[in-house]
Amino acid sequence: MLDKSLNWYYFIIRMTKLSKEKAREYQKKWRMAHPDWYSKHKEKYKECSKRWRQKPENKEKQKEYRKQWILDNPEKFKMQAKRHYEKHRLEILKKYKERDRLRRKLVIEHYGNKCACCGEAAHEFLAIDHIRGGGNRHRSIVGYGNSFYNWIIKNNFPNNLRILCHNCNLAKAFYGECPHDTLKRKKEFLERKEGKEN
Ligand SMILES: [Zn+2]
Ligand SMILES: [Zn+2]
Repeated sequence: MLDKSLNWYYFIIRMTKLSKEKAREYQKKWRMAHPDWYSKHKEKYKECSKRWRQKPENKEKQKEYRKQWILDNPEKFKMQAKRHYEKHRLEILKKYKERDRLRRKLVIEHYGNKCACCGEAAHEFLAIDHIRGGGNRHRSIVGYGNSFYNWIIKNNFPNNLRILCHNCNLAKAFYGECPHDTLKRKKEFLERKEGKEN
């Protein structure tokens, strides 16, 4: 009964060359005129559309339909999204968290995986530094935290950034220079002086 009806649906498309939209409209009318038919064959009907959805050649079509449906039904979509979020909140948050963690990992690995100043390599201590300054202003435009990591990836890892640990980063922000650099300069100065004296 069900397969017959679906065949009938495709038969309409083929034989009368109606647009799919019209065929769907026709099917909708038919269903409304036969409300019992649908409830009687609900399971079979679901099974059939599930089979259609699982076919690889229909995946792209589904995406297109879905996109169009969202554009046509923005309010319904909002409600759907809200219901979905409420039902799967924990899984969704977990997934986002994992995605954010991987993004941050990717960015840190790209910029050398350790503090450019002291070599600290524990990811928990590491942050992105704007080599020529202006980090706060830049972040206020493109976003903080995960949005910033996302921006970096989307913009193909700009080369005015590097990795610093929080210690070196804060020292640089407060004193204009990390004490590691100051010490290094002092050491180099002393070495030069010693070299001259000898
Ligand atoms: Zn450091
Ligand atoms: Zn340092």
